[in-house]
Amino acid sequence: MTLELQARLNEVKGKIAAACTRAGRDPQEVRIIAVTKYVSLAATGQVLQQGLTDIGENRWQDAAAKWEAFGDRGTWHFIGHLQTNKVKDVVGRFAYIHSLDRLSLAKEIEKKAASLGMEMPCFIQLNVSGEETKYGLEPEALFDFVKEIREYRHIRIAGLMTMAPYETEPEQTRPVFRGLREWRDRLNREALLDYEVGHLSMGMSNDFEVAVEEGATWVRLGSILVGKE
Ligand SMILES: *Cc1c(COP(=O)(O)O)cnc(C)c1O
Repeated sequence: MTLELQARLNEVKGKIAAACTRAGRDPQEVRIIAVTKYVSLAATGQVLQQGLTDIGENRWQDAAAKWEAFGDRGTWHFIGHLQTNKVKDVVGRFAYIHSLDRLSLAKEIEKKAASLGMEMPCFIQLNVSGEETKYGLEPEALFDFVKEIREYRHIRIAGLMTMAPYETEPEQTRPVFRGLREWRDRLNREALLDYEVGHLSMGMSNDFEVAVEEGATWVRLGSILVGKE
């Protein structure tokens, strides 16, 4: 498993570097989240041992045992739809929430983070593709949303996140990733916050090369990197 994992990691890194060259970007700007949601606790341990320390999980129920075992050995990213009743489990354990998409969720995060005396870094998830089946805030609602949550002193907006629809031809996803970058740049131009929003969490196994060309700073890779069991 570990040799295979190392080989897959090298291949992914090569593809990221090539995409960066095409786009005139520095590969150091692109970080990899190893999405372990498809694999066991033991396999998650091997991922960490391999030096992949940014771990992505999308359901607290599935992540809990892994976090109990390895929580102190990695940086944990909550990447899936977050139910408000799970916020108490996630805040304080995960370093980032990638799926902030509604005010009711922001309120819960703020409450929990305040009670812990910490600031919770969150990505605002935008539904750039407009697919009805996708979670995420409508992009047009972004500025009003930010105006509301900037009052929440225990939430820090680390970046924007999106998911593109699955395409057999990954090039088709480009407008979605470009769209997210443009919304980030507009948000910064509006200067609604007293800090820059830097990160773009975008790109999965099928489409990460396009996402990197369009400016991804975090790619979330499951099947192509960690594999499925
Ligand atoms: C599962 C998942 C991923 C990784 O999916 P792969 O296509 O296997 O790389 C990335 N982001 C989110 C939000 C996910 O739920």
